[in-house]
Amino acid sequence: MARRFGIYVHFPYCAHHCPYCDFAVSTERPPEGRRYLAALTAELLLRAPALDGLAAVSVYLGGGTPSLWEPDEVAALLAALRERFALPAPAEVTIEANPESTDRAKLRAWRAAGVNRVSVGAQSFDAGVLAKLGRRHGPDAAERAIRAAAEELGNVSVDLIYGARRSSVETARRDAARAVEAGATHVSAYALTLDPEIMAEEVPLARLRREGRLPLPSDEDAAAQSAAIRAELRRAGLRRYEVSNYARPGRESLHNRLYWSAESYLGLGAGAYGCVRGEGGSYRYGNLRDAGAYLDAALSGRAPTAEEDRIGPVAERNERLMLGLRTREGVPLASLSPSQAREAEGLVAHRLAVRRAGALVLTSRGLDLHTSIAERLLE
Ligand code: SF4
Repeated sequence: MARRFGIYVHFPYCAHHCPYCDFAVSTERPPEGRRYLAALTAELLLRAPALDGLAAVSVYLGGGTPSLWEPDEVAALLAALRERFALPAPAEVTIEANPESTDRAKLRAWRAAGVNRVSVGAQSFDAGVLAKLGRRHGPDAAERAIRAAAEELGNVSVDLIYGARRSSVETARRDAARAVEAGATHVSAYALTLDPEIMAEEVPLARLRREGRLPLPSDEDAAAQSAAIRAELRRAGLRRYEVSNYARPGRESLHNRLYWSAESYLGLGAGAYGCVRGEGGSYRYGNLRDAGAYLDAALSGRAPTAEEDRIGPVAERNERLMLGLRTREGVPLASLSPSQAREAEGLVAHRLAVRRAGALVLTSRGLDLHTSIAERLLE
């Protein structure tokens, strides 16, 4: 069977720039959605040959705010991808949607175009937390969007953020409960990250944090909020299957699982990343983040690449280890070197990991400490 790959398409436009966000976004109105579509199609023709011989199994339209894109342009993009890659009928096709730009008509149009999964950027259902995050929608709009998506498509993921200003164990627990009540079959729960080391200077909340003007819950409080979300979701039947992701059985994200099992993915669009893995070596590329520069390059027939890296064998093994440890499948014990196997013994002894079906799998406590554990195991 051919190896699988996923397709990520970045739509970089947002109605406004949330003050904690470091993604490649533009608040310009999409100059013409058609122009962006033409650029994506041009990039597709340039990049697709590198994936020939692999089987496309998922499409993820992320952003930015792809729910701002005209549904007929989403449909045209999916048709172009289908034509180039012969997507199988059960391919997972996800679109990210913001509550304020999601309605029944769009949901129906997306479904007709082949979208079968919606990821709603709710972040919280607490009006105070949403205000501190600078989100434009209120709790009711988020709930309405999730209910509508659940009714129209039946497969809805909800993004939640914890560890934000005004958040508490109680708001986190209520957020998880309300997401499930509204119809979420999958939840991604992330700690608010404002790390000055990795965030751009101009991200407003990161700047306030750097200047000591943004009090946030302590790491211990944030960990307690995460535990409250986990407990609430477990009660509701959603299982943690990755560090930050929970799903009802069978509703895990196929697309994200491709990332975690270190498969190839094609990235298209401004600021998108792609990774092509092969026997003869692997490489990763990142596209121009600026939407205008991306459009200019792609529409004049040039690859809109901003950076490109070959991935050497040691880096490849380390990546597989880091990614595999994020999941309930873990990493094959046979892939560990003697010194890594000794470290693994210590993890098992401390109940941070178990051996299961020939793999080293982190326990729930181990998943909470994933980064430091993975760093100790790296070659
Ligand atoms: S809507 Fe999402 S991508 Fe756009 S600025 Fe806000 S957080 Fe970033």
